[in-house]
Amino acid sequence: MEWKNKADVVIIGGGIIGSATAYNLAKLGRSDVVVLERGTVCCGSTGRCGAGIRAQWGTEMNCRLGIAALDIFEQLDEELGMQVGLNQGGYLLVAYTEREFKNLKKSMELQHRLGIKTKTVSLAEAREICPALDASDAVGFTYHARDGHADPFLTTFAFVEAAKMLGVSYFRHAECTGVTVRNGRAVGVDTTLGHIDADIVINCAGPYAQVVASMAGVELPNWGDRHEIMITEPVAPGVCPSMLMSFSGNYYIQQRPNGSIICGMSPAGHPQDFKLGTTWRFMTEMSRVLNKLLPVTRGIRVVRQWSGLYDMTPDGSPIIGETDVKNFYHSTGYSGHGFMLGPIAGRILAQSLIGNKPDIDFSMLDYRRFARGELIVEPNIT
Ligand SMILES: Cc1cc2nc3c(=O)[nH]c(=O)nc-3n(C[C@H](O)[C@H](O)[C@H](O)COP(=O)(O)OP(=O)(O)OC[C@H]3O[C@@H](n4cnc5c(N)ncnc54)[C@H](O)[C@@H]3O)c2cc1C
Repeated sequence: MEWKNKADVVIIGGGIIGSATAYNLAKLGRSDVVVLERGTVCCGSTGRCGAGIRAQWGTEMNCRLGIAALDIFEQLDEELGMQVGLNQGGYLLVAYTEREFKNLKKSMELQHRLGIKTKTVSLAEAREICPALDASDAVGFTYHARDGHADPFLTTFAFVEAAKMLGVSYFRHAECTGVTVRNGRAVGVDTTLGHIDADIVINCAGPYAQVVASMAGVELPNWGDRHEIMITEPVAPGVCPSMLMSFSGNYYIQQRPNGSIICGMSPAGHPQDFKLGTTWRFMTEMSRVLNKLLPVTRGIRVVRQWSGLYDMTPDGSPIIGETDVKNFYHSTGYSGHGFMLGPIAGRILAQSLIGNKPDIDFSMLDYRRFARGELIVEPNIT
């Protein structure tokens, strides 16, 4: 594709956030959009994630975003004209202490107020939801049947293709190397393929968002946090149709439609740098947890393990909005939940950029909240 020297909007990053934002802008009529991706679509956190989707959150903002994202996911195949691999087997959250169960129930009250139909379930009911489960040491469970998972590649590719049909241009292997600021406004971007003028620049660079922000002199408090994950060979499909997750147990476990199991945890002391890599320690600890929870997995083989970066903020909540540099926007800091929030995050930022009232008021996700000390601390994360 021929390089463009000018666009209305330049988006940096071709993961789920950049792609959903590009699609939504074009859908709302602002289609002179260029997406710059320094690698290939989905080469970042999106293509490395566990792909869980849930509305069981502990802050009002995340609950609102989570249930709105589910509403979008449920009709996304139709909207984008491609399958996104949505599987709504629910999320079964497992508490191992009375205190943790109390916190889950407190979150559930908030969820109920916001129309999210989470319920508590007994061990026997949990075993009906997930027949292979051995969690006799658990104190309690909450379950939301509409939660689940989707395919991160299919979902992102669907946004990309739909965006391109509406006129969006994608440039791969195009690294943003500088953001041009004139009189306090972002007016363009330097890249390895050349310069491009822009009326609006949006930073969707995931764990590298603070690096891109600094190109315009903006300091974001984000950091990249390495998380490991692995996939096993298949066991009988349907042994664990729901996503299993525990905050104190420090795991999430998902069974793919073919029977393979994807699982991840956050070992203590995981490095906060940009390096990727895998460890023996993760695989042995994760296997132990998996074998205990789903004894049917004992003796099966791990097919692949990999790692990716959570794009962390000090409160575990995203940063969406403009910065002190005018026309320079950020949609970043989604920590371990940016895949699921991508469709709604893309929609609300696009709505606000074209001057419409966003479906969800996201002004509290402004990056200045950290300086003000107004943190939105999400308790329900691993
Ligand atoms: C192991 C793991 C498990 C996870 N599990 C889940 C889960 O179950 N559910 C969930 O919702 N989320 C999960 N996440 C989090 C989720 O992956 C992220 O929040 C989400 O993918 C962020 O999307 P993004 O588009 O912001 O970032 P990315 O997908 O990282 O996209 C950013 C893109 O920007 C590009 N880029 C960076 N710098 C530049 C530059 N200078 N110029 C051009 N391009 C640039 C990168 O190459 C990258 O492709 C998980 C993450 C990991 C690592």
